Amino acid sequence: MPRYKACRTCHALINGNRCPNCGKTDLTDNWSGIIAVISIEDSETAKQLNIKFPGCYAIHVR
Ligand SMILES: [Zn+2]
Repeated sequence: MPRYKACRTCHALINGNRCPNCGKTDLTDNWSGIIAVISIEDSETAKQLNIKFPGCYAIHVR
């Protein structure tokens, strides 16, 4: 399994060098916790984390 990086801006987990959500390249290996967002509309957590696209996100990013 590849080691995913987390976007510091939107917390998206990424296998690459650029975040597909916000276009930033400010990524970090120092993250913990995973949330899988399937539907933005139904997810209170997605709203709290300001997630705008379905996908996997890190809960804590340092
Ligand atoms: Zn991002």
